Amino acid sequence: MKFESQVVHAGDRKRKPGTPVPSTTPIQLGTTYFYDSAATLDRVLGHEEEGFCYARYANPTNEALEELVTSLEHGHGALATASGMAAVQIAFQAALLDRPHSVIASASIYGATVGFLDQVLSPFGVKVKYVDVCNLPELEQAIADRQPGCIFLEGISNPLLRVARIDRIAELARGAGASVIVDSTFATPMLMRPLEMGANIVVHSATKYLAGHGDVLGGVVVSDAPHHEAVRRISRLVGPVLGPFESYLTMRGIKTLAVRFERQCQNAKSLAEWLKTHPCVERVYYCSDAGHPDAAAIQQLFAPGLFGAILSFEIKDANKESVLAFMDRLKMIVPGTSLGDVHTLLLYPLIASHRNVSPKMRERTGIRDNLVRVAAGIENIEDIKADLDNALRSA
Ligand SMILES: *Cc1c(COP(=O)(O)O)cnc(C)c1O
Repeated sequence: MKFESQVVHAGDRKRKPGTPVPSTTPIQLGTTYFYDSAATLDRVLGHEEEGFCYARYANPTNEALEELVTSLEHGHGALATASGMAAVQIAFQAALLDRPHSVIASASIYGATVGFLDQVLSPFGVKVKYVDVCNLPELEQAIADRQPGCIFLEGISNPLLRVARIDRIAELARGAGASVIVDSTFATPMLMRPLEMGANIVVHSATKYLAGHGDVLGGVVVSDAPHHEAVRRISRLVGPVLGPFESYLTMRGIKTLAVRFERQCQNAKSLAEWLKTHPCVERVYYCSDAGHPDAAAIQQLFAPGLFGAILSFEIKDANKESVLAFMDRLKMIVPGTSLGDVHTLLLYPLIASHRNVSPKMRERTGIRDNLVRVAAGIENIEDIKADLDNALRSA
C-alpha cells in the first residue's frame, strides 16, 4: 500500500473468526484481562502465547496505533507514549541500556530535550556533547574522541530548518557501534523515513502532525528489532504509555495526515515565496530555497516535491517589543507555542522555544530577536497571507 492508503487502513480492523469487525479501532479501556482458562493466562504472562493481560504491557487500541505508525515509518515495532518527551526519554534509555553512557547530540534540538540531557541524564553520569551535525568532519572527530553510545538529532532543526545527512551519520555511527535516534516530529514519515536511512530509533511528538488537531498530548517511539525489544522491556517496567482515548484520537488524526501535510507544505512554500518579497521582511528560512545551506541533503532525503510545513522569517528592524505587538495584531493565526495543527501557528523563539538559551548562544546559532516561526495550517492561503500582511504593515 502507498502512504496515502496506509494512513487510512493500517492498524485497523483486526479480524477474529466468528466476530464482527469494526471499521475503525474501538477505544478499549480495560486494564486487566482474563481467559477461558487460567492456563491460557499463565501462558500469556509467560510470553508463550500472545495476548493482553495488563494495560501497562499492552492495550488493543494502543496496539492498533503502534501498528499504524510502524508501517508508516517502516520500522520493526512502535510504542505509543504519554508525550513526545516520554518518547525521547525511553529512546535514550533503550539506546544506552547496553552501550557506553555517552551521548553526542545535535546543538540545535528541542529545548526540553536539552533540559532532559542536562538535568536528568547528566546527573546519572551520562556524558553529553553537543555538535553541529550538519558539519560531518566535526561529528566524525567528536565520535572518535567520545566513543558515544548514541547520537541524537532532529530530522529538520528548529527554528532555522537545517537538515543533516542522516544516512551518512548512520554510517559513521554504525562504524563506532553507536545507535542513532532521530526526532522526526517536524518531518513526519511523509517527508522522510529515518529508519530506511540507517537510524535505529525514530521518535515523534504525536502532539504535533500525527494527531494534528491540537487536542492530544502524545508520542511514539519506532525502532528496529533490537531497540524495540529494549523499548518494550523498559515500558513494561515503567509504563509511560499513551491512554487508549488519546491513541484513538491520534489514529483518527493520522487518517488525514497525508492530505493535511500536503496542504500544509503547499501553504508553507507559498508563504515563504511571498514573504521573500514583503517589504517588512528581512529574511526567510525555508527548505525549498535554492540557497539553503543543506540543499543537497534536502534533495537526497526529502520526498520529492515536499519541503516541510514550517518556515521562519526575520521582521525588518524589529525588537522584542515590536514582535510582541505584531503577534497581538494577528486575527486568525494562533500565536501559540506548538506546531502541526490544522490551524496556522506562529511562535516567537525568544519567548518560547529558546527562552532559556543565553543571548550569546542565540546569537552564535543565528536566532535573532526579530525571528518568528510559522507552522502553516490548512486554511486558505490568501487568508493566512492577509492576516500576516495586516499584522506586519500596521506597525
Ligand atoms: C513538541 C516537541 C517535542 C516534545 O513533545 P511533547 O509532546 O510536547 O512532549 C519533542 N521534539 C520536538 C521536535 C517537538 O516539537
